[in-house]
Amino acid sequence: MSILSIKTYPARVLKEKAEAVKSIDGRLQQLIENMIETMYDASGVGLAAPQVGVSKRLIVIDTAYREQGKSGLVVIINPEIVYQEGQAGGIEGCLSLPRFTVAVDRSARVYVRGIDVDGNPVEIESTGLFSRALQHEIDHLNGVLLIDRLNPVQKQNLSGSFLKLNQ
Ligand SMILES: [Zn+2]
Repeated sequence: MSILSIKTYPARVLKEKAEAVKSIDGRLQQLIENMIETMYDASGVGLAAPQVGVSKRLIVIDTAYREQGKSGLVVIINPEIVYQEGQAGGIEGCLSLPRFTVAVDRSARVYVRGIDVDGNPVEIESTGLFSRALQHEIDHLNGVLLIDRLNPVQKQNLSGSFLKLNQ
């Protein structure tokens, strides 16, 4: 296993719509192992493949590790939000936007479908931090970053300062 380098804004791969995974081979499994190690190493609660420069629909999430110090690792290939409801505000950061946090409104509850590492279908219904992480990581697969989720006032307050932060 190895730790991968995390792409940061404005890397082009972060703005692309990622491609569906068509087959789960050794190479993909290696990528998954490396993404998991990279996520823990960076103390993130989630990581999407485009963040390590691979434009594929694959995410890893572990919100339990941060909250309870135990593994709650979830790997989802080709994740899709099939149902969402409610609204929840919260502060988010992103490994691809270092030193940046912002309040983002998300759906309170999401229902996600995809496939696991063995190719079996998975269905996850979630709320709380896990739900927020799912929505954040799936955004990455569609080329959407936190800065694309800001409301007009947040955008205005940030104009200029964000770019300075990342120079
Ligand atoms: Zn992110």
